[in-house]
Amino acid sequence: MPDIVPLPAFRDNYIWTLRDARFAAVVDPGEARPVLEYLAREKLTLAAILATHHHPDHVGGIAELLRHGPVPVYGPKGEPIATLTDPVAEGDTVDIPELGLALSVLDIPGHTRAHVAYYGAGSLFCGDTLFACGCGRLFEGTAEQMMASLAKLAALPDDTKVYCGHEYTLANIAFAQQVEPGNGALAARLVRDRKLREAGKPTLPSTLGEERATNPFLRWAEPAVIESANKYLGARVSDPVKVFAAIRDWKNRA
Ligand code: ZN
Ligand code: FE
Repeated sequence: MPDIVPLPAFRDNYIWTLRDARFAAVVDPGEARPVLEYLAREKLTLAAILATHHHPDHVGGIAELLRHGPVPVYGPKGEPIATLTDPVAEGDTVDIPELGLALSVLDIPGHTRAHVAYYGAGSLFCGDTLFACGCGRLFEGTAEQMMASLAKLAALPDDTKVYCGHEYTLANIAFAQQVEPGNGALAARLVRDRKLREAGKPTLPSTLGEERATNPFLRWAEPAVIESANKYLGARVSDPVKVFAAIRDWKNRA
């Protein structure tokens, strides 16, 4: 895998930039300016643009980047992104020969109708579906779809690096502690990630192993999570979809 650099955008977005000594590819350029400045400063040539979903904070910079030279633009086949040149869906591979890189496409609907992730060389670019210690809101999908998408990502190896679209980690950990006050790995994660933020550093990437141990949206089968969901609902449920939906609803109101 080439180097992976976060370019901060807007208030809390990251544009993940994959680069070697000469070329770069960017994931979810919601803004063009941070990318153009970085490419100029590092004397890199843009080789490809990848989008995970159609929201403006992920695709808003693409048209401006293309004004500086045409490159392939990959993104979900099932979403309205006018600038796509190469619509993709699960089973497709994104080849970036300039970086010697091939990424496979996974369909992970839920946040949006056809949201995709890119996975390769132990790294996962998952946009607004899986966040560090959280998950995206259900704008265009059901709880059941989001759960299936998260389960698909959670099945990747423990040491997979998770590169998500936003720096939401500390707020997500605060909520996760309400759901699982007794989770020791979560408490340790808060100490570490708070230090990173105080030093002005991203809390990302995390790993899938960490997410499985601390992210309440992957832990619908844990007795403590089920118990908290029941308390929130004031009813006894154990069906995983209902547990997941309750935690998602709780987070929306938290
Ligand atoms: Zn989004
Ligand atoms: Fe977003």
